[in-house]
Amino acid sequence: MAILNEQVAVVTGGSRGIGRAISLALSREGATVVVCARNRDKLESLPAEAADRRCPGRIVPRALDVTDAAAIEPWFDALATEYGRVDILVNNAGITRDGLMMNMTDEQFDEVLTTNLRSIFWLTRAASKYMVRARYGRVINLTSVSGIMGNSGQANYAASKAGVIGFTKSVAKELARRGVTCNAVAPGFIKTDMTNVLPQKVKEQVKGLIPLQRFGEPDEVAAAVLFLASPAASYVNGQILVVDGGLHM
Ligand code: NAP
Repeated sequence: MAILNEQVAVVTGGSRGIGRAISLALSREGATVVVCARNRDKLESLPAEAADRRCPGRIVPRALDVTDAAAIEPWFDALATEYGRVDILVNNAGITRDGLMMNMTDEQFDEVLTTNLRSIFWLTRAASKYMVRARYGRVINLTSVSGIMGNSGQANYAASKAGVIGFTKSVAKELARRGVTCNAVAPGFIKTDMTNVLPQKVKEQVKGLIPLQRFGEPDEVAAAVLFLASPAASYVNGQILVVDGGLHM
């Protein structure tokens, strides 16, 4: 039986990679999933893919740029009004603008912080209104092992993802008494457009450091998100679930 029947989920950055796998996993369990990204083309193909896979939950593509602070609250209010509830928020949208810290521009730093961290604040604030009122909610944020370990060439990205961890734990403490949990998933190296750009030599070096000796699949991260969204995780709060083949331990 589908475990998220009747529930409404919002997934940011769901057009590709990990977010797309998360959207399909939630839909497979019966949730209505509102999925956003900036580029409409890949978003629009999601409902057909969900239908091909016989996912019972509806997928609703709805474009949004998560860095557009002024647009977020009205976007959220519109969908909450339309669907009457928001049970699950997956803050997945993220970018990298890698470079050595000494050469990093303000723009490179700010763009990553705004997309990966500030947007999570804006979206969670907008969603929590509805979740607190319903006395139920699951907020799941995508962080990264880079936010735990640091990574050369990723001062901006690692800072944003470390910020997501602090944000997650603070929200977990603030909202728990209102029935809302907040957790994060920290992937290691996963096969998506984000890691595709790495030179082959770097990929081989990284694989050598991963005890499982391979990059992860988006579905393997989606499984962790699905667990945190499911009734099975009812007593899990403020946790960072690392999905990295053992890279960081
Ligand atoms: P990806 O393949 O590059 O996909 C990123 C998604 O975010 C796309 O759907 C993209 O769509 C969307 N997005 C980017 N900027 C956006 C914006 N301003 N507004 C709305 N949507 C936006 O990335 P991924 O590898 O799946 O990563 C997903 C999450 O996991 C990210 O938070 C990432 O930091 C984290 N993560 C990934 C890895 C990895 O190895 N892949 C490891 C650790 C953590 P548009 O471009 O159309 O907007």
